[in-house]
Amino acid sequence: EHLSNMIAAGEVVERPSGIVKELVENSIDASAKHVDIYIKQGGIESIQIIDDGIGMDSQDAVLAFERHATSKIKETDDLWNIRTMGFRGEALPSIASVAHTILKTNDGKDGTEVEIRFGKLIKAQPVGTPRGTSIEVRNLFQKTPARFKHLKTPQYEFSLISDVVQKFAVSHPQVAFSLTHDGRAVFKTNGGGNLKEVLMQIYGREAAKSAISVNQGDGDFIVTGYAVQPMFHRATKYYMLLFVNERMVRSYHLQKAIQDAYAPYMPKDRYPIVVLDIKMDPHLVDVNVHPSKWEIRLSKEKQLEKLIYTALHHALKKDIA
Ligand code: ADP
Ligand code: MG
Repeated sequence: EHLSNMIAAGEVVERPSGIVKELVENSIDASAKHVDIYIKQGGIESIQIIDDGIGMDSQDAVLAFERHATSKIKETDDLWNIRTMGFRGEALPSIASVAHTILKTNDGKDGTEVEIRFGKLIKAQPVGTPRGTSIEVRNLFQKTPARFKHLKTPQYEFSLISDVVQKFAVSHPQVAFSLTHDGRAVFKTNGGGNLKEVLMQIYGREAAKSAISVNQGDGDFIVTGYAVQPMFHRATKYYMLLFVNERMVRSYHLQKAIQDAYAPYMPKDRYPIVVLDIKMDPHLVDVNVHPSKWEIRLSKEKQLEKLIYTALHHALKKDIA
């Protein structure tokens, strides 16, 4: 059991940002309205996520660390679905197998603390803790040197974490996020539900104020969102955020279409800040290409690339002229 958790951990948990992604996803699944993220040393020393979601009772708090205990895999014999949901119910056991993990949770009735050191259950006992869940993951990969070796500098690992949290914040404007690194507040959103406000809280007032709204459709796709002006460009492409039917996705070709539209106005090695939601018939998109569900496969992709390019091209031309 411990061994299979360690093997799974290699897939689910490669680095701190992957852990943050899994834990924040759980907080959102638990209907949290506030998610506070405290990182030390790029997450290598500690990752703590505190939410005000529904919490777990004492039984579920222990079960959460058992593989597939919560998985829906058993309920289906559809091979395709098994493949795509392969990671379900594996995140917490995987994380707990390669770190020192302390969970405190309160479902509104009882508080429970569960502590697991590198896969070994140390304690499970009642505790006083506010409604919601706090998970701290310390000393990541301390007992798995081969994996520890693959971690980069704390600064680099933190930059990946920051990207992940930004994406969650932008895709969930109705949830208040805060991100703190080594005691320094990095950003904070207010959960008011307004995307433009979230952009302001993350990228700054000037950038958000400059954002041009995009709203363009053809028979198959509707593209809406914000395009921040070229002068607020960034050095990495993580700031081009794409949602398909409200689910965050990654797509080389669609991001390329965004870059192409900005190209005349921007230095070559820079990337725009753009948030686009694309509405389409679910039949046109296959989200099941990769278990993380971020990669997608689209029918009519060329047509969509063209629509995105045109929408941004017009928005920028009009605004800059
Ligand atoms: P999955 O999310 O695929 O079910 P995880 O290993 O990520 O698997 O989590 C296991 C279970 O633990 C979840 O299904 C959920 O019931 C519970 N859980 C994890 N994190 C939280 C949280 N922050 N709040 C409430 N319940 C949680
Ligand atoms: Mg999960």
